[in-house]
Amino acid sequence: MAVLPIRISGDPVLHSPAAPVTAFDDELRALAGDMFETMDAAPGVGLAAPQVGVPLRLFVYGWTDDDDVLHRGVAINPVLWISPASIDELDEDEESEGCLSFPGERFPLRRSQSAILQAVDLDGEPFEVRAEGWLARIFQHEFDHLDGVLYVDRLRHPYGKASAKASRKNGWGVPGLSWLPGRDHLED
Ligand code: ZN
Repeated sequence: MAVLPIRISGDPVLHSPAAPVTAFDDELRALAGDMFETMDAAPGVGLAAPQVGVPLRLFVYGWTDDDDVLHRGVAINPVLWISPASIDELDEDEESEGCLSFPGERFPLRRSQSAILQAVDLDGEPFEVRAEGWLARIFQHEFDHLDGVLYVDRLRHPYGKASAKASRKNGWGVPGLSWLPGRDHLED
């Protein structure tokens, strides 16, 4: 297993739809193992294959809720059903999210409170997870990655402008940038 470099916003693989997984083999198992290791090293609560340069429809997640229950798994070829999102004012404290492909930045974004994830596991066996709150947010964030959408693409005024400014300041938005968890710097 290995920690993989994480692609940064601007790399084409992050901005293109990923292809369905068709081969449930040792290579896929190794990829999922590396993705778990990379997510844990970052550290993060979710990581999608395009973020490590692999244009396939799978993501891993790992998040411990307020009751100390660990939600961890790999979702392959997922489908996501979401409830309508509320239209209340955004709460910057409660609704800010980040992304390992937009590292060190956080911006508030409205997400649906509930989601149902349907996917298959590494053996190709279907499973379903009903998620609320932050877990539902993680699923929406990771699912977006498989369609080539970053959360910063969804930000509303004035946060969209702020994220574009952060991207410019960091020199992102160009192909070929990545960073390696475990090293304390960005590399290209
Ligand atoms: Zn992300």
